[in-house]
Amino acid sequence: QTLDPEAALAAAAEVLHSVWGYDAFRGEQAEIIDTVVRGGDALVLMPTGGGKSLCYQVPALVREGTGVVVSPLIALMQDQVDALSALGVRAGFLNSTQQSFERRKVEDAYLAGELDLLYLAPERLRVPETVELLDRGTVALFAIDEAHCVSQWGHDFRPDYLQLSMLHERWPEVPRIALTATATEQTHAEIAQRLQLGDARHFVASFDRPNIQYRIAPKDKPRDQLLNLLRTEHEGDAGIVYCLSRNSVEQTAQFLVDHGVPALPYHAGLDRQVRARNQSRFLREDGIVMVATIAFGMGIDKPDVRFVAHLDLPKSVEGYYQETGRAGRDGLPSTAWLAYGLADVVQQRRMIDTSEGDAAHKRRLTAHLDAMLALCETVSCRRVQLLNYFGQPSQACGNCDTCLTPPESWDGTVAAQKLLSTVVRLEQRGQRYGVGHLVDILRGKVTPRVTQLGHESLSTFGVGQDLSDGEWRGVVRQLLAMELLGVDTDGYGTLRLAPDSADVLRGAREVRLRRETEKVVRTRGSRSS
Ligand code: ADP
Ligand code: ZN
Repeated sequence: QTLDPEAALAAAAEVLHSVWGYDAFRGEQAEIIDTVVRGGDALVLMPTGGGKSLCYQVPALVREGTGVVVSPLIALMQDQVDALSALGVRAGFLNSTQQSFERRKVEDAYLAGELDLLYLAPERLRVPETVELLDRGTVALFAIDEAHCVSQWGHDFRPDYLQLSMLHERWPEVPRIALTATATEQTHAEIAQRLQLGDARHFVASFDRPNIQYRIAPKDKPRDQLLNLLRTEHEGDAGIVYCLSRNSVEQTAQFLVDHGVPALPYHAGLDRQVRARNQSRFLREDGIVMVATIAFGMGIDKPDVRFVAHLDLPKSVEGYYQETGRAGRDGLPSTAWLAYGLADVVQQRRMIDTSEGDAAHKRRLTAHLDAMLALCETVSCRRVQLLNYFGQPSQACGNCDTCLTPPESWDGTVAAQKLLSTVVRLEQRGQRYGVGHLVDILRGKVTPRVTQLGHESLSTFGVGQDLSDGEWRGVVRQLLAMELLGVDTDGYGTLRLAPDSADVLRGAREVRLRRETEKVVRTRGSRSS
């Protein structure tokens, strides 16, 4: 099936107008849609809210047959199909949540040529019946949504995605479009290779979200900090608060409710009905704060989320970008706020050490964490650092915490040496301690434990009185982040030397640290006045 260029674009524009009521394509949509309508493959990297869905929905309507969309987001398929049906688009889905009679209805519609779009869970394609079914009808195109799931390097690998290369082998004539809102250059290359998109045109949109103000604050009573943020800048706004554990989700939601904030919890341990009810309240009511684990948010399309707050450190920059990207889809000023502290680094390093998986897997997790830590500890523009991670150089933004209140950096070499040599001296005695006791030694505090262990006699006892407790914890956190200090997997957060500590100790390496600042950053503009 071939269309000449003019006819293809005209047909696409007509569909855009008559079905969606939109006047024009955005950004590269026209080019992408043109490519696919004319039978070519495309690989699309576009941030959340960029308008990826239309890139396959419009061609599915223009081309003969059914557009088959592979998506891992089973929970959203019903919503997606409902939304399309409301526009008069004939859509259906096949996944494991269905009864067989429901499945049969969709299959019959497909075979009768009565479906414009068919959503499929990736594991469906492992079933020979599905492949035969597709063969008996007409496939207009394959759309592979959340394509980064094919990447083992990425943060959201799904084994079922690996076999999607069969689409090309089985149906070489059918155009394919792979889409993702998160991809480093490495993931990008992996998607192209694993999905056999060698001949595909690549469309890489800017990943900048200029209306999002990125802020990363030192963690100090995070729930109070959060409440302060809500009261001073986001009174009555809808937002998402991410926590690492189900427990802290529940506690944080309760804390907010106790302080008069309409907050709801969301995590995989909640009853399905409760989850569905909370999600729909968040979507339909104004000003709800959703406190959630990262189980929440994939595919949620709520344009006026004014803030995304993280009370725990995300495991990767990709995750952070994806989660914060749920703020401000409407283009209005929004806040991405993260509270980050020493315990986060200790906890995440330990989680990696004790995780299942081979050495290569642990190295990947470590690389992901290190990039996230570098973003937290940077003294230059957060946005520059973030975009750089995705291979997109940019200029200082003027709308992130480090641009608005530039942090000072200082020469922490001597402080690092004092700390590391204390660790050395303790290790020589066969002892290891956590940050609290180490700081006591450096600050020369005569605690019962210090006396009992005879640590007043250490030559580094009291050599660190020039820094406060908080400053020392900042030093420890940053050394951990830079892997100049290690942490044990024993569950107590005891500190030990890292392979590179020696460089610092013998003065072969300078250590630049970020001065801890707790100044409040004012939001740009005057939404509150
Ligand atoms: P993504 O999947 O990239 O996160 P969506 O496809 O959900 O983004 O699109 C985000 C929003 O932008 C949707 O509400 C969509 O209807 C709207 N949109 C997309 N393309 C256009 C366009 N050309 N004109 C107007 N609105 C658009
Ligand atoms: Zn900036």
